[in-house]
Amino acid sequence: MQPTPLLSVIVPFYNEEESLPLLLDQLFEAMSDKELQGLFKQPFSFELLMIDDGSTDGSLDFIREEIVRKPELKLVSLQRNFGKTAALSAGFKYAEGEYIVTLDADLQDDPFAIKCLIEKLQEGYDLVSGWKRERNDPLSKTIPSRVFNMTTRLFTGIALHDFNCGLKAYRKKVIQSLDLYGEMHRYIPVLARWNGFGVSEIPVKHNPRRFGKTKFGTSRIFPGLFDFLTVLFITRYLRQPMHFFGMLSLLSFLVGFGISLYVTIGKVFFNEAVVNRPILFLGILLIILAVQFFSIGLLGEMLTRDASRTLHYTVRETMNVQEEKR
Ligand code: UDP
Ligand code: MG
Repeated sequence: MQPTPLLSVIVPFYNEEESLPLLLDQLFEAMSDKELQGLFKQPFSFELLMIDDGSTDGSLDFIREEIVRKPELKLVSLQRNFGKTAALSAGFKYAEGEYIVTLDADLQDDPFAIKCLIEKLQEGYDLVSGWKRERNDPLSKTIPSRVFNMTTRLFTGIALHDFNCGLKAYRKKVIQSLDLYGEMHRYIPVLARWNGFGVSEIPVKHNPRRFGKTKFGTSRIFPGLFDFLTVLFITRYLRQPMHFFGMLSLLSFLVGFGISLYVTIGKVFFNEAVVNRPILFLGILLIILAVQFFSIGLLGEMLTRDASRTLHYTVRETMNVQEEKR
C-alpha cells in the first residue's frame, strides 16, 4: 500500500471516454512538476481519485486498465448516474490528502493551474476557486452562468466571480465540513464561507470542450434554482425550522386572535353583527395559518434530524482505495 498522499486530486466523470487518456497524461505531467512539489513543506505525494458517476461508455474500463499500471490512480464507481454533486462528495469521502483539488474530466480545466491554486491556498486561504475569466463555452451556457453568479453574489455577499468552476483547491478541514446533496456543488464556496472558512479565487485558463458535450443543459436551471433556495434557507436560516415557522405561527396567531377578540367584544358589549364582517374571515384564516406554520415547523424539525444520516449515492465498485473509508 502507498503512503498517505499529501495531495488528492478528485476527478468526477460521466461518459468522458475520449477525454480521459489525455487528461491522465496531463495530470501525471502536472503532478511531476517540481514547482508544484516545492510548494509543500512535507515530501510530496499524490493520489488521483477518479469518480465514475455511472458512465455507460468505455470510461470505466479505461480507468480499470490504467489502474493496474499506476499506483497513484484510484477508482470509486457509483452505482448509477447520481450527478456531479454526489460524485464530488464520494470523492471527498475517500480522499486522504491534506490538500484536495477537484477538476473536471473534459479537459476544460487546466491541470497545470493546480500549482497556482495551491500557491494561493498557502497564502492562508482554506478554499481557492478557479475563475474562468475568459470562458470558452457557448452563449447558452455563459449567459445563465453569469446570471447565476450575479444572483449568488448578491444574495450571499460573497465577492467571487465564478462559484461553479470545476477547478478548486481545498484544505482537508473544508471538505470535512461539507454535507452536499442535490445540485449543491455550485454552492461549495458559499457553504465553506458560511462554515467560517477563508475563500478566494484566481483566474484560470479555460479550454473549449474538445470531445462529447456538456452534461448540464438548460433542464438543470430549475433544479439549480431550487437548490439555491434550499442552500439559502436550510443551511443559513433554517438550521432550526421551528424557530422560523414557530415565529410565523406566533405572529399569525396573535393577529388572528386579536381580530377574533375584537369581533367578539363588539358582539357581546355593543351588539354588533358578526356574520357581516369580512375581517372575521381574516381572523379565522390567520388562526388556521398559525396551526399550519406550527405543523410545518415541527415536521421540518423531525426531517432535519434524519436528513444528515441519509446517503446520497451508492457505490458499486472501488479499486485501490482504502476500504475502511467506506
Ligand atoms: N459530470 C458528472 N456527473 C454528471 C454530469 C457531469 O460527474 O451527472 C462530470 C463531467 O463528466 C465533467 C464534470 O462533471 O467531468 C463537468 O461536467 P460538464 O463538463 O458537462 O459541465 P460544464 O463544464 O459544461 O458545466
Ligand atoms: Mg465542462
